[in-house]
Amino acid sequence: MDTPPPPMPVGSALDLIGRTPMIELAGFDTGPCRLFIKLESANPGGSIKDRIARSMIEAAEADGSLKPGGTIVEATAGNTGLGLAQVGILKGYKLLLIVPDKMSREKIQHLRAMGVDVRITRSDVGKGHPEYYQDMAQRLAAGIPGAVFINQFANPANPLAHETSTGPEIFAQMGGDLDAVVVGVGSGGTLTGLGRYFAKVSPKTQMVLADPVGSILAPLVNTGETIEPGSWVVEGIGEDFVPDNCDLTLVSKAYSIPDSESIGAARALLLKAGVLGGSSSGTLLAGALRYCREQTQAKRVVTLVCDTGSKYLSKVYNDSWLAEQGLTARELHGDLRDLIA
Ligand code: PMP
Repeated sequence: MDTPPPPMPVGSALDLIGRTPMIELAGFDTGPCRLFIKLESANPGGSIKDRIARSMIEAAEADGSLKPGGTIVEATAGNTGLGLAQVGILKGYKLLLIVPDKMSREKIQHLRAMGVDVRITRSDVGKGHPEYYQDMAQRLAAGIPGAVFINQFANPANPLAHETSTGPEIFAQMGGDLDAVVVGVGSGGTLTGLGRYFAKVSPKTQMVLADPVGSILAPLVNTGETIEPGSWVVEGIGEDFVPDNCDLTLVSKAYSIPDSESIGAARALLLKAGVLGGSSSGTLLAGALRYCREQTQAKRVVTLVCDTGSKYLSKVYNDSWLAEQGLTARELHGDLRDLIA
């Protein structure tokens, strides 16, 4: 068998962002559909956020707001921070990150190992509260001379990165033929960027939202009503407000996925496909499977593995932690196969 040549050496980790692989899932009940997953976990910083970290920093350099040696401030669930830290190290910027306290220790340790000033704040307060992570980031940035609040929730360079890179890659990998893309929303960048791109090149392609139970977004799409936000275990997706970067009018179908279903799907992805995805990947896969099974005609569906599960070994892949959270149906003895069958 001919082996394709390995990729040639590149000048820096930044040159490895994007061009992520895609696999077709086998062994899942996908009804009449074919389901493909794009492994954004293969980015050098380990998540889909590498793309926007680079594009937002380059946009701030281009508009003159970020000067050599300057400080980038951001509110992040961790992955945007890891992406910013990686780009920041390579380009010589300092980084101050405000991270809600529910985020995994692995991400926080990783950030601190990269020399980032990480401030942990409360996860249980909403927009307008002084300890809310986004309000804190904005306030702290205003007090540091030359600092830029990069603000993934409103920065147009965030959706633009998906419109110009993730979207074209998906379209090419699917041979220009796909019926639906299943995404989650944290900042909305992925949804809005991919939605804009496919509206232009493939109007039949539907944008499908997989949202954690407790988030306001799926109920807002489905009923037009804003619910009182709850809490959820899955990290990086689900919102208690609609970010500026999140264009919900692009969504054709939305599902609210309970944590237990997301975690079951993430564990199934590992056991059936050998892919160690993060918790949001479980939500997206669960939403994609629901969508596929509801179809009456054969469709080609894509979803994303937004980050790697190695950041969640102490949570999603830890049976004792799941039992403590009440996320398992019975006492487990190191084997979740019954739960996810
Ligand atoms: N999955 C993970 C693990 C994330 O960290 C994020 C972003 N916080 C997303 C999905 C959602 O992406 P977006 O910000 O583009 O809506």
